[in-house]
Amino acid sequence: MKHRFAEMIWYEIKEAAKDERVAVLPVATYEDHGPHLPVDVDVLLANEICERAVAQIPSEAILIPPVNHGYSPHHMDVPGTIPITWDTFIRYVKDVCVSVAHQGFTRILIVNGHGSNTSPCDMAARLTIIETEGRVLCASVNHWALRKVRVDGGEIRDSDYGGTSHACEYETSLYLALKPELVDMNKAVDERAPLPPSFQTDLLAGTHPQGSAANLNIYWSARTTSGIMGDATKATQAKGEQFLAAAVDGLIELIREYRQTPILPRRNQHQ
Ligand SMILES: [Zn+2]
Repeated sequence: MKHRFAEMIWYEIKEAAKDERVAVLPVATYEDHGPHLPVDVDVLLANEICERAVAQIPSEAILIPPVNHGYSPHHMDVPGTIPITWDTFIRYVKDVCVSVAHQGFTRILIVNGHGSNTSPCDMAARLTIIETEGRVLCASVNHWALRKVRVDGGEIRDSDYGGTSHACEYETSLYLALKPELVDMNKAVDERAPLPPSFQTDLLAGTHPQGSAANLNIYWSARTTSGIMGDATKATQAKGEQFLAAAVDGLIELIREYRQTPILPRRNQHQ
């Protein structure tokens, strides 16, 4: 059974929509990931996690061709960044989702691999629901926020809080599991931004225990000298394989939960 939208003939897509398969859309961006990783980290990880998860459950999900350019203008001090403007990006992702909804798919899941895409992806998902007048569901998730990644990841990681943020123990390990020949671990370092707890981040742990979950996104080059945030030195291929398994299982778990989620009717109180 085919699982990639792009490889289907039109009537197969029609059938996939009728079968209420969840439409999974990977979203990422190209930007610098320190001195030891290629610029396609977010793209590779988001696409691979989605590909592997959807391939395992083709009767329940379908892989939509990805959106590989995202929002990262704060990275422009470093070569390798190709951002698109924030409103272009939101409208682009929303347009893709609305077009997928037009095919008959009623549950669309945006799976994001780039931290600064979080708010725009949430907005694109919400706008998709508004534009389709509530006839479809559209949700967004970051792969590091999947339940199994947070739970299992807490066991797999060796770094303390702040060790998994960007080009870090988590992302470097995953890249080592997928394309080890492109990683230069000799250049991996441990770097943390000198910011108080409320403005520190950790992909797997979320808000700092002594912090207030405030959002502050300054220019990337002001935040880190190496381009790394977290402890890339702790990354290994073995941990990457464990993180990858957690992300794939976590995404399958979410897809199944989403597929059972009712589309609750609106109640127009104006009449
Ligand atoms: Zn990244």
